[in-house]
Amino acid sequence: MLDITPIVQTPWYNLHGHTQYCDGHAEMEAFVRQAIDEHFTHYGFTPHGPTSVPSTCNMSRDDVPVFLAEVRRLREVYGDRIHIMSGMEIDYIDGFGPSDAYFQSLPLDYRIGSVHFIPSIADATVMVDIDGRFARFREKMATYFDGDIEWVVRTYFRQMTRMVEQGGFDIVGHFDKIGHNASQYRPGIDSEPWYDALVRDLFEAIMAHHYIIEINTKAWAEHGRFFPNQRYWGMLRAAQAPVVFNSDAHYPQLINAGRDEAMAFF
Ligand SMILES: [Zn+2]
Ligand SMILES: [Zn+2]
Repeated sequence: MLDITPIVQTPWYNLHGHTQYCDGHAEMEAFVRQAIDEHFTHYGFTPHGPTSVPSTCNMSRDDVPVFLAEVRRLREVYGDRIHIMSGMEIDYIDGFGPSDAYFQSLPLDYRIGSVHFIPSIADATVMVDIDGRFARFREKMATYFDGDIEWVVRTYFRQMTRMVEQGGFDIVGHFDKIGHNASQYRPGIDSEPWYDALVRDLFEAIMAHHYIIEINTKAWAEHGRFFPNQRYWGMLRAAQAPVVFNSDAHYPQLINAGRDEAMAFF
């Protein structure tokens, strides 16, 4: 398990950052330069890992050694100014995920486990990205889920729970992210008792398996929401859950987006 103690000694770190090899919008070097400009002590790259599902957001297996070589190169150039880490945001997709031998064989500093895809309601072999913009999510609700938002939410949390049980990663990525799209589809759904119960059950499983929990700050500026939602932070504090504040940056200028606010509120 990643030791976050030396990393969180200062607030200037980010352990969730994307790259030109996945859906990031700049070269890794631009992120490192920005991080140095902002006096970060640690910067972790976590491209979306390879997946069997067709996805333009995920890196190809061929690019994995290229990515790792670029981390080594950047360490040689900038390693005296910042601690550069190699991670990966690995999708858990219905049984296949971070615990797979392929991901375990990669020489990474740490792994983030995330759920972005769930099976369609009619055909469990069809995997649907439920993480994108709401306009697309609403279309998919009709196309793949018969408009059954409760089924989508329950399935998301079931996938998250299975990922947590299978393991093979260090940090749980944006753990109630489905609440963002689900609550636009049906306002208030994420404060209904059954939704809360799903979050609390998942949180208990996360704690039982001793993962690090990220407070994902990517959507704060645009949507005023963190993942997990602020309404659960009291629960995290009470349990003394190990947390890191990650911006999930896809642009260099956003490496610190929402992090100061989250740390002030936590
Ligand atoms: Zn993600
Ligand atoms: Zn991400």
